[in-house]
Amino acid sequence: MRKNIVAGNWKMNNDLSESKKLVKGIKKAIKKKELKNTRVIVSPTYVSLNAVVKKAKKSAIEVAAQNMHQADSGAYTGEISADMLKSVGVKIVILGHSERREYFGETDALLAEKVDQALKNKLEIIFCFGEVLEDRKNDNHFKVVESQIKNALFHLEAKPWKNIVLAYEPVWAIGTGETASPEQAQEMHAFIRKLVADKYDAKVADNVSILYGGSVKPANAKEIFSKQDVDGGLIGGAALKTEDFVALIDAI
Ligand code: PGA
Repeated sequence: MRKNIVAGNWKMNNDLSESKKLVKGIKKAIKKKELKNTRVIVSPTYVSLNAVVKKAKKSAIEVAAQNMHQADSGAYTGEISADMLKSVGVKIVILGHSERREYFGETDALLAEKVDQALKNKLEIIFCFGEVLEDRKNDNHFKVVESQIKNALFHLEAKPWKNIVLAYEPVWAIGTGETASPEQAQEMHAFIRKLVADKYDAKVADNVSILYGGSVKPANAKEIFSKQDVDGGLIGGAALKTEDFVALIDAI
């Protein structure tokens, strides 16, 4: 059965001591919670990964990187390889975030390479995608999401899908305070699950967790998370405060 996931994407926020403090706070707050079928993931910047992995030990918290380079190693100044992530205890990587696509020119083709590289290195992937406002207004959102998923993931066999989590993040809802309605989220998530079922089979589709991202906060999380095909959230702003993030875990 697929898992629920509450994942905090800290983006370019929190220095080393702030990162340690935040993960410590979350660890303490969830210590006595019965998480049942829910995974808790935090994603600090590269420089804090090692420390956060250490702090998260003996807790339910898992740690993800926010990005990764597609090559094994070499002359790629400023980049981080899958091996390096593994060497500091990271087992999960976020790929395809809209900020990577928009500000760093990451294309579907590049993301397909990163996906292969992550899987080759046995890293689990939280794969992000989503339409911009223009697409939604022009009723193009299903087409855009379909092509983003197909181009980066549909070259895979069924087996690696056990290491993939999907994150639908409509770009117009990220950091804007504007959320997709629970109905809009459910509609898209059901569409995505069907896409996967049609390409692979019902089992692959039923087992893949599909997260929603975009201005999820304690006030709206319960309603969004209650939707049948919404298996949790990838959270930016509200993941930066212990009490908000913990409230989101409680909302699932
Ligand atoms: P937000 O970010 O929750 O601040 O909208 C979500 C994300 O970008 O993953």
